[in-house]
Amino acid sequence: MSTYLDYFAMTDRNYLHSLRVPSSSDPLRIMMSACLSGIMCGYDGSANGVYPSALKLLNYNNVRLIKFCPEEYSFGTPREMCDIHGGTGLDVLEGRAKVLTETGVDWTEGMIKASEKMLEIALVQKVELAVLMDISAACGSQVIYEGNRFGENKVYQIGAGVCGAQLIRNGIKVISQRDFASLEILYSKIDPDHEINKEALDHHENEWYKGYFQLA
Ligand code: SF4
Repeated sequence: MSTYLDYFAMTDRNYLHSLRVPSSSDPLRIMMSACLSGIMCGYDGSANGVYPSALKLLNYNNVRLIKFCPEEYSFGTPREMCDIHGGTGLDVLEGRAKVLTETGVDWTEGMIKASEKMLEIALVQKVELAVLMDISAACGSQVIYEGNRFGENKVYQIGAGVCGAQLIRNGIKVISQRDFASLEILYSKIDPDHEINKEALDHHENEWYKGYFQLA
């Protein structure tokens, strides 16, 4: 198993188990991809679909959601779709890869600025966890596209988007809306009536992920 997957398989799950039990007077501070909360900030002016696993977080008064859309911050809405070319979000931050729109416009600089803004907000707000939209070139945490997703051969890669990587490398724990096992632990912290579903899997544990990336 790679170091990257270790991050999700062990570090995050242990971290989630160690989260405090929040109250309405001292809520858990969770950064959230704005679109996951239903805000219409997707590239096409939609919310990128409906994800009950994340939307449920809106129901608790012992959770304070800090919602942010990094792409809207830098590029507005609606905007072109963009993807990472030549590496992962971490590679973008370290100058080895680029963010290009579907028509080839270079958005690398704007995306890095957006990631820095997201990190600044996370630090100022003292977020304790981030729940981000996976697959996004900005907010992805476990899997992203390699190159233009609208190209003839759609290719996925293991890795985080630029903003996900920025948070992770600065010590902020990130899970996605598809990390169902991790979300189960989170909900057990914020809801005393929640019983953990032990059958739930995180994204990197599901059949599609393991089959596509040929993991044992
Ligand atoms: S940049 Fe992040 S918050 Fe904004 S639409 Fe894309 S996935 Fe959602």
